[in-house]
Amino acid sequence: MSRTVFVNGDYLPESEGKISIFDRGFLFADGVYEVTAVVNGKLVDYGPHMERLDRSLRELRMAWPCSRDELRAIHEEIVKRNALKEGIIYMQVTRGAADRDFKFPKEPKSTLIAFTQAMKLVDNPNAVTGVKVTTTPDIRWARRDIKTVMLLAPVLGKQEAYEKGAHEAWMVEGGVVTEGTSSNAYIVKDGKVITRGLSNSILAGCTRRALFRLARDHGIMIEERAFTPDEAYAADEAFLTSASQFVMPIVEIDGRRIGGGQPGPVVRKLRELFLQEAATSG
Ligand code: PMP
Repeated sequence: MSRTVFVNGDYLPESEGKISIFDRGFLFADGVYEVTAVVNGKLVDYGPHMERLDRSLRELRMAWPCSRDELRAIHEEIVKRNALKEGIIYMQVTRGAADRDFKFPKEPKSTLIAFTQAMKLVDNPNAVTGVKVTTTPDIRWARRDIKTVMLLAPVLGKQEAYEKGAHEAWMVEGGVVTEGTSSNAYIVKDGKVITRGLSNSILAGCTRRALFRLARDHGIMIEERAFTPDEAYAADEAFLTSASQFVMPIVEIDGRRIGGGQPGPVVRKLRELFLQEAATSG
């Protein structure tokens, strides 16, 4: 069935959703995006996603494409029009269409698009078995804290992982793991979760933020520091987080089995806590 998508103010059948070839998102990757999960027809962690969007826009000196209330209404409307029960909403804002020139247009008119993608998030079979990851050099730019659509390095990293039979690539810089191509990275040692602290080197994940709150509320310790691939190979557990995967166990890194090759108790507990909260969010 054809989806209904949102393009610059209109709800259209997906085949009719079009933007200009002069759009700066297309020409320069001059745009930002957010991906928000939907469970039971309700938006998960919507507030944090919009806070991050606001920050990304400010960092790139782009205006909001509409009011915050309008953007929330667009999210809710495409969920409704597509009868989406479970999946994601992708939304993107660009600096709009203008004659090709690196400098900002004098009067930018931003492009705003949004679409839904139905996905199994809660009963994701990957969460039962756990997934494999590989490591790859982090070749991205220095402002990974801004959620831009400039995703070629993650595309290449994910493809490399896929061709090696893995689900995700953990990117490595200066001998330590930064994050996954589309997720944050964690290991567990002696019951304690270890993940890199926030900086310009990684994206501040909304799922990461929720995880920190849930861990604190349930007495699970988190240490914010970088770790090496060698430390990860020797970890008791490993996992990743993202809006579309929630808390996802990792059972193999670069061909080395983690823990017993099964999702461990800490990650299973954290996923369960996240799912409980997602089921009652809105
Ligand atoms: N890091 C990167 C590079 C990502 O692309 C993502 C997914 N957007 C994340 C981390 C996880 O962020 P979130 O939990 O907000 O989806």
